[in-house]
Amino acid sequence: MTGSNSCRRFAQVAVFLVFMAAAAHSSTAWQATSTAASPVWQRPPATAAAPTPVPVTLADILRGAYGPYRVNNDLLSYHLDIRVDPEKQTVSGKNSIRFKMLQDGTRIQLDLHSALGVDKVLLGTTPLQFVRDSGAVFVDFPQMLRAGQEYTIDFYYSGHPLTTARFGGFTFGKDPAGRPWIYTACEDIGASDWWPNKDQWRDEVENMQISVAIPNGLVDVSNGKFLGKTDLGDGYTRWDWLVQYPINNYDVALNIGNYVHFSDQLGDLPLDFYVLPEDLEKAKKQFAQAKGMIEAYEHYFGEYPFKKDGYKLVEVPYSGMEHQSAVAYGNHFTNGYLGRDWTGVGVSPKFDFIIIHESGHEWFGNAVSAADRSDMWIHEGWTTYLEVLYVEYTFGHEDAQKYVNGYKAKVQNREPIIAERGIAATPPQDMYFKGALFLNTLRNVINDDARWWALIHDFYQHFKYQNIMTEDVVAYFNQQTQLYLTPLFDQYLRHTAIPTLELKFNEADGTVDYRWQADEPDFAMPIRVGKRTDWQIIQATTYWQTMKTPLKKSDFDVATDLYFVNVSKE
Ligand SMILES: [Zn+2]
Repeated sequence: MTGSNSCRRFAQVAVFLVFMAAAAHSSTAWQATSTAASPVWQRPPATAAAPTPVPVTLADILRGAYGPYRVNNDLLSYHLDIRVDPEKQTVSGKNSIRFKMLQDGTRIQLDLHSALGVDKVLLGTTPLQFVRDSGAVFVDFPQMLRAGQEYTIDFYYSGHPLTTARFGGFTFGKDPAGRPWIYTACEDIGASDWWPNKDQWRDEVENMQISVAIPNGLVDVSNGKFLGKTDLGDGYTRWDWLVQYPINNYDVALNIGNYVHFSDQLGDLPLDFYVLPEDLEKAKKQFAQAKGMIEAYEHYFGEYPFKKDGYKLVEVPYSGMEHQSAVAYGNHFTNGYLGRDWTGVGVSPKFDFIIIHESGHEWFGNAVSAADRSDMWIHEGWTTYLEVLYVEYTFGHEDAQKYVNGYKAKVQNREPIIAERGIAATPPQDMYFKGALFLNTLRNVINDDARWWALIHDFYQHFKYQNIMTEDVVAYFNQQTQLYLTPLFDQYLRHTAIPTLELKFNEADGTVDYRWQADEPDFAMPIRVGKRTDWQIIQATTYWQTMKTPLKKSDFDVATDLYFVNVSKE
């Protein structure tokens, strides 16, 4: 309850600061801001009692909100054309940003970390004025840009990008043999850590070209299809890559090293693998798992989503990352996760967790993407569930049930899975494990596997290449199933606690009273109870109901491996 009040207060601060930021930069901002913010605050804040919220800063809002100078334009393409100097540890060059105006305006918001310098921004040959505010770069145009018109600006920048966050942001490293190994992993800090872009989740370019000049002898593996390399004659070679699909900014990657390359095919899908020469033989064995992984996910969801760009695995020194069509791999060419049995039930040692998890993001995260970081469970909850599906397809249903239930030990139930919108807040780790357990629960609520497989297949296909929010997911599932699943989604995603099935036995009468204890007053979920070999399904709600049972309290079971719930017996 106290958490609820705090959340509300911080939300108001957030809205206020967006208005302040808008007002500070333009007199026309007020209208645009209210348009941008209107879908954001429809739902009351969750009743989390756990961690004290961190105050929201203006920088959080500039980064996380879909503000007035973001909402007024729609990205079309990027051409990132840069030079990376391993000696000086610098990046320099430009991003050509093509966009369509959705409203008349004279200003757009781009983003670049304050550690990097803006050299100039050009519209054709006209230099543009710009204002920097924490990570935001507000670009001003001398004339009104018209709604419906397309424009391209060249954003020149240079400097030493920050090495930070979980996987490094941008790292000038060395491989074990002492050769340069330079890589990016910036989902936490944002892609503007190392290149200028519209750094948010809602809007993606339709396609992107990536050109990277590096010293001769090194290899750059970026996203998309390899177009070729050009010797620039000054000791540098430019590597050109073409992404032919929408792409999240944070998925855009550089992997520069002394890579060797080998390739394979799955039907007409090209598979390309890049590893250090010392690891070639190990990689040839381990990366064979990529085929079975793609076959499993194609079975459930349909064709690999970035076929024209191909599928790649690229060795990196951190555990892994779902960089679109160029998945970063650092799991030491062994099964499990960094040598561990990841869910502790003997299933994870049968496969390479990083290949299976990070590549699952090609379907959820990269093809179906969340429009705001608050709803990142659409990436991580679904992809963790994809691991379960991979296990089911490859090793059978029993292993899949063991595997998903192994995740229970990792669930904390301290904060809701969906974080506050518009401030680039990272949801808690429960979005992975509880997210997957929730989807496994939903499968058993549907209680018809043929229907469930069709439902998740069609859900993926319906939202492929789109950026969506949880409301879109819930509306789709409600509409397709003709069930009112909103309280289920809300209980698992917007509250901390999982539902508890309360059972009160009256053994003399041979009856048991039952109801759900849940935060959602309309929570209603069928569940299997009674005898494990002969389940009975009860339609439990938050109101007491009574059922007959010949079973004693100690013999009365609940299918807690199929539904992620607590049970209390009296
Ligand atoms: Zn993931």
